[in-house]
Amino acid sequence: MNIRKYIAPVSGLVMVACGNETVQERPNIIYVFPDQFRNQSLAFWNDEEYARHVGWEADPVLTPNLDRFADESVVFSRAVSTCPLSSPYRGMFLTGMYPERSGVTLNCMAERPESTLNPDAECISDVFSANGYSCGYIGKLHAETPMKNDPANPGHYVSDRRPEWDAYTPPERRHGFSYWYSYGTFDVHKDPHYWDTEGVRHDPKEYSVKHETDKAIEFLRNEHGERKADAPFFLALAYNPPHSPYESLDDCMEEDFNLYRDMSYSELYVRPNADTTLSKAPSARYYFANVTGVDREFGRLLAELKALGLDKNTIVVFTSDHGETMCSQGTLDPKNSIYTESFNVPFMIRYPEKIRHRVDSTLLSTADIMPTMLALAGLGDKIPDTAEGRNLAPVILENGEPCDIPDAALYIRNTNGPKDKDGLVRGIFPEARGVKTHEYSMEITINKNHKIERVLIFNDIEDPYQLENISWKENPELFRDLCSILAEKLEESNDIWYRENILGEILANI
Ligand code: CA
Repeated sequence: MNIRKYIAPVSGLVMVACGNETVQERPNIIYVFPDQFRNQSLAFWNDEEYARHVGWEADPVLTPNLDRFADESVVFSRAVSTCPLSSPYRGMFLTGMYPERSGVTLNCMAERPESTLNPDAECISDVFSANGYSCGYIGKLHAETPMKNDPANPGHYVSDRRPEWDAYTPPERRHGFSYWYSYGTFDVHKDPHYWDTEGVRHDPKEYSVKHETDKAIEFLRNEHGERKADAPFFLALAYNPPHSPYESLDDCMEEDFNLYRDMSYSELYVRPNADTTLSKAPSARYYFANVTGVDREFGRLLAELKALGLDKNTIVVFTSDHGETMCSQGTLDPKNSIYTESFNVPFMIRYPEKIRHRVDSTLLSTADIMPTMLALAGLGDKIPDTAEGRNLAPVILENGEPCDIPDAALYIRNTNGPKDKDGLVRGIFPEARGVKTHEYSMEITINKNHKIERVLIFNDIEDPYQLENISWKENPELFRDLCSILAEKLEESNDIWYRENILGEILANI
């Protein structure tokens, strides 16, 4: 009896100690998301283990580091970018909210001042920071409207471009990121620039992917107090390549371009839905060069993580804000559509000893990322009430906890709403909505009178390249079924198509 009494307080003490350690031993997180990196540009999809999950052929790219990483990760085959455009994606990733609530409804630029990250939104970095994490952001932000706040030239935009796209984010709008090395949007891959934590501008004159990886490695090494030494960290690394431009050796590293230089169009374009007579056709070589450039630098980051002994307790995600059509489907628009090349994104997550390598077909959407990442870090009870996505951590961890697994994913496309007398865009026009199930993709585009302009319906299992648009008029039952699934998703996300009964109007008028 005495022994029991004696042991009890000791184990109580141990629990307290564990409680403290738990905070320090929370996993680190590195979230890497190059811009416009399509899921098809990952070589491993051609390996048998992976190929049967997608039914399409991967691009002829060299991605050895990402292939190895995939073999250690949960690889999502059907992850999508809900609103496949830079800024709306970034707003959703940061807040877990749909664009109408995150504030970022359109690509951010000075003529669209209303599309900007809500300064009061509780972001993933706010939550990590409030729970003891050191948070760092490196690379392209593009989630805020440009303001006349150039630290070196107060009262002016950061450049004299018209319209202004680039932006500086002052400390009070960094949402818990205490380490900063970022910019708004700027597409010169070998002459990038950044503003650091103190607002000092840097123009390193080297390939942005390499430079940002160097900065990420500095953050990992923490030689200059980039982060709190005894705290876990959350690092967002937002490369711009393989985003356009992709037209010359100014846009990529020559050693990477040389891998693709002598390939013919028939070797470069393996997808039967690609049209190599489009003016964009020469771009594939430069695009693939940047894919390989990203792969090499991502590999360098992982090697450093391992060398520092941080790999075991670090969750690493590799994904992208949207895809790239690259001559598929006859369009020159690389993104902003439900076509697989645009809507489907890479999403791989590695958490050594905690998750089992496999391919997972869950329809993971952008709003799910924030709650899922917080829960994976053991902060499931800190997910803000404002987050609208699902916590899919139980799917990833296979821990048997209840999980509301989605059976469909919403697609959103907005365009400019009305303009004011100064030519500034005020609000959005919700031009298209759509839905993807495990079998079908459907996109409905409307005109300003809310009449159907175009409907796309594809059977993604039987027709993985989306070559045959199934006629909605000749298949009214299928169309109605997909519309009822879309209606559920619109209601769940409190979308403007639900609130203003746009879908109901469409269906009533056909
Ligand atoms: Ca983008």
